[in-house]
Amino acid sequence: MPVRSGVVSSDDVARRLAQVQERVAAACAAAARRPDEVRVLLASKTMDVATVRAALLADTAARTAGATHAPVLLGENRVQELVTKAPALADLEPTWHVIGPLQSNKVNAALRWAAAVESVADDALARRLSGRAQGREQPLDVWVQANVSGEPTKHGVAPDAAADLAVRVAALPGLRLAGLMTVGARSDDERVVRAGFARLRAVRDEVVASGEPGTEHAHGLSMGMSGDLEAAVAEGATVVRIGTAVFGLRATPAG
Ligand SMILES: *Cc1c(COP(=O)(O)O)cnc(C)c1O
Repeated sequence: MPVRSGVVSSDDVARRLAQVQERVAAACAAAARRPDEVRVLLASKTMDVATVRAALLADTAARTAGATHAPVLLGENRVQELVTKAPALADLEPTWHVIGPLQSNKVNAALRWAAAVESVADDALARRLSGRAQGREQPLDVWVQANVSGEPTKHGVAPDAAADLAVRVAALPGLRLAGLMTVGARSDDERVVRAGFARLRAVRDEVVASGEPGTEHAHGLSMGMSGDLEAAVAEGATVVRIGTAVFGLRATPAG
């Protein structure tokens, strides 16, 4: 019996995840990129543990059956959801990323479970993460989030300031700058969406080309969601963050 939770059954989750992996593979082929250059992160906000578990199991089953993609990552916007779901899924050993704004008083709780924070948009949070990450066995992966669309509701440093922030973050002990992250423009015009992703790629190129300490790993581009993953892959995404395409529409608004 498939578990039904939220709007999609576990069978649906498996089928929809396979479709997303196919979309990623097709987008890579169209861009003459290798499919293993792009990893799927499942944005599990508002989804319950059973639904997320179904997705992780479907991913493992697909890879056992011969699919060659890397295991999916998981992303949470809110620390409260992370600390509830992560222990309940710990037996499957998923890799969690924080993908929403992180308040400084939630850093300790987040770092218990998260391998990466993708939403670093100011020096204060970066310093706080650095202080807490020192003493970990592995450095904490951090991504600098830029607001390439300029939409005021969106989190992220202005694109003009993103490269400088990334260079400062890269130099902090305990952190490993993995790249840049953005949420694309909310627009039906694919050219506008793609221009934003291209902007993030240009920031990434500038950071890596700087040769500054700690920038040598910063090749990542976390961009593209259910509606615009093809545009993001075309512009160089290395991680696409997918919610609704796998889990169905959320009952509550996006966090
Ligand atoms: C919810 C969310 C996503 C996934 O969005 P979908 O449109 O549901 O695929 C990706 N990134 C962030 C930061 C999110 O909050």
